[in-house]
Amino acid sequence: ATPTAVMVATGKGASQGVLIKGGNALEKAHKVKTVVFDKTGTLTVGKPEVVSAVLFSHFSMEEFCDMATAAEANSEHPIAKAVVKHAKKLRQKFGSHTEQVTEAKDFEVHTGAGVSGKVGDKTVLVGNKRLMRTLHVPVESAVEDYISENEQLARTCVLVAIEGKVAGAFAVTDPVKPEAQVVVSFLRSMGISSIMVTGDNWATATAIAKEAGIEKVIAETDPIGKADKIKELQLKGMTVAMVGDGINDSPALVAADVGMAIGAGTDVAIEAADIVLIKSNLEDVITAIDLSRKTISRIR
Ligand code: ADP
Ligand code: MG
Repeated sequence: ATPTAVMVATGKGASQGVLIKGGNALEKAHKVKTVVFDKTGTLTVGKPEVVSAVLFSHFSMEEFCDMATAAEANSEHPIAKAVVKHAKKLRQKFGSHTEQVTEAKDFEVHTGAGVSGKVGDKTVLVGNKRLMRTLHVPVESAVEDYISENEQLARTCVLVAIEGKVAGAFAVTDPVKPEAQVVVSFLRSMGISSIMVTGDNWATATAIAKEAGIEKVIAETDPIGKADKIKELQLKGMTVAMVGDGINDSPALVAADVGMAIGAGTDVAIEAADIVLIKSNLEDVITAIDLSRKTISRIR
C-alpha cells in the first residue's frame, strides 16, 4: 500500500477504535487465514467471579479466605482479584472477628499456574492442579470430584494448599463475551478459522470454546507454548493473527503476523501488539481485517 493509503486506513481505523501501529500490520491483515484467541480476558469478559467455595480442612471459611487473599494480594491475575473480592464480601457478610492478614511474604508468581507465599508461619499455594503437582501437593479424590464437577460447567477451580495440603477451593466463572460466537462464525464465512489457546485446563477450556463456537482448542499451555503454536501454523504457510490481553500473551502477539491486543488488556500486551482494539470488542477483529482487505484491494 502507498503511504497515503496506509494513512487513510489508519485514520479510518482510529475513528472506529482500531489503532493500527504501522503499515506492515495493515499489509498483512488481509491475508490472515487463522485467528488465534486467548481465553481469559479475550474471549471471556475477563472479570471472573467466585461462585462456589469449599473447605477440605479444619480451617474456618474466614481463615481460609484470609490466607488465600494474603497470597493473592500481589497478583495481577484476574482470578486473584476474584478471590480477594470474594473474601472481602465474606468478611462483610459475617462481620469479621479476627484480624486480617494482608500480605504474604516470599511472594512468588508461577506463570500459568498460580502463586505462593508465606502467610504467618504457613506456606500457602493458590492455583491450579498443575501448581499442586509441581510443588508436590497431593490432590485427593474429593478435591478431584469438586474440580471435574465445576470444570464441566466451564468454571475454573482455584485450589488453596496450606502447609502442603489442599485446604479448600474456589470455583470461578468468567462468561464468554456476548459477541464472541457471532464473530467466530463471521470469520468462518470470511474463510478464516479460529483457534483458542489458554493456560487454563482442558475441561474448562473446551467448555468455553464450545460456547464461543470454536472447535480447535489448545489448553494448559504457557506463554512460550502460545507463541510456538503460532509459529507452527506459520510453518504451514498460514498468515496468523493473535488476539490477546495479558502479559502471558505477549510472546504470541510478537510471533504472530498480526498481533491484536484487547484495549482493556495489560500494557505489556498493548505494546507487543501491532493493532489495539480500543473498545475491547471482538467485532473489531473483523473491522481490522476488513479495513486491510479494502485498503489492499483498492490499490491492486
Ligand atoms: P489464560 O491463558 O487463560 O489467560 P493464564 O496462563 O494466565 O490463563 O493462567 C492459567 C491458569 O493458571 C489459570 O486458569 C489458573 O488456573 C492458574 N492461575 C494463574 N495465575 C493464578 C493466580 N494468581 N491465582 C490462581 N490461579 C492462577
Ligand atoms: Mg488473557
